[in-house]
Amino acid sequence: METSLLTRSNRAQTIMPQSLLSWWHEEKVRQAHVLVIGCGALGSEVIRQLCLLKVGHITVVDYDTIEEANLFASSMFTRDDACRNLPKIEAARKLVAKMHPEGTFTGINGNVLHDLGLSHFKTCNPTISCVDNRMARLFINRVVHQFGSYWIDGAIENLAGTVKVFGKKTACFECEMTEDDWSALHTELGCTTVVRRNLSHGRVPTTSLSASIIAAMQVQEAMKVIQGLHDKLRRNHFYYEGMSNHCISYQEPPKRNEDCTCNFSSLEVQISSVSTSHKVSEMDEILFKDHSIQSSALRLRSPLITAWRDQAGKVHQVDAIPKHEILNVLEQKVVEVAEEVSLVSISEYAQMTLHDLGIPPQDILNVIDSKGQVHYLQIQ
Ligand SMILES: [Zn+2]
Repeated sequence: METSLLTRSNRAQTIMPQSLLSWWHEEKVRQAHVLVIGCGALGSEVIRQLCLLKVGHITVVDYDTIEEANLFASSMFTRDDACRNLPKIEAARKLVAKMHPEGTFTGINGNVLHDLGLSHFKTCNPTISCVDNRMARLFINRVVHQFGSYWIDGAIENLAGTVKVFGKKTACFECEMTEDDWSALHTELGCTTVVRRNLSHGRVPTTSLSASIIAAMQVQEAMKVIQGLHDKLRRNHFYYEGMSNHCISYQEPPKRNEDCTCNFSSLEVQISSVSTSHKVSEMDEILFKDHSIQSSALRLRSPLITAWRDQAGKVHQVDAIPKHEILNVLEQKVVEVAEEVSLVSISEYAQMTLHDLGIPPQDILNVIDSKGQVHYLQIQ
């Protein structure tokens, strides 16, 4: 998955213009690892900027494929890519190989909510969010803050766009969610809408113009994180409207909401030799041997479905499957999910692998031992 196309010995020795900046430390940029979530108009522009600045390690996650309409939003995609329905992640891989061959690129063709191992949020800093929905932002927000990292949110619509930087000392994304935001989110999260949500792709009118402006600002803030210039980060939100040429940079940074559940504590994560190909039954031995954990349960990010109802009202019992894989497994016939399990006892699902349970590689497991203590384990 990772590609490094040039070795250190044949890296070009050209002096880059930004290295003449007094505050620019090239080595920090070369060592940096940035996570980009979303590879549409905004994400592809962010990746291009990261390549130009020679960021050493770039990880990108996106689950979409290239269509004809995408060609107008980003020059990263070609007509040939659209004809072949190439995953956007592959176009990103090609771009990085061409523009920044000395860097490493990791592409994850999947949904940030389910397919990205949580340890990527720990390894990478900052995370640059180029997603188009509230749920993904809320997810990113909750995970990033557990590792004390920064994330930079960008959004575009028409000729307008916003940039928000979230870090330890600011209000988080969740702090700012209104009641309307929450009710819209709850509707989206309803079991019966699982299928609908995956089928209907929210399309927002965007332009490459606002994408270029907002992406450049996101990467500019990312560079401040990388250079350690945390006091120079944008604390207040920025809003840009291209039709009237209005820029609003709010005077006061948003206040933290006392009722927010945001958790800024740093998780203590242990490295584990468990991998997604291990069966649940094999975990017991490894957890005891490596971590002295007498395990009792594994808390899943996505609940397991054990029964579902079809359009005719018939209830079907199924082997446990992760909720987000309903579409693949049951071919869109689900009307309602009848039962969910999110805490898996090791013995009950002994013959399933972690992959079967919907756990992606490099995830961080939430294991509860026999005394009720929670352990965070980073898997292979
Ligand atoms: Zn908060």
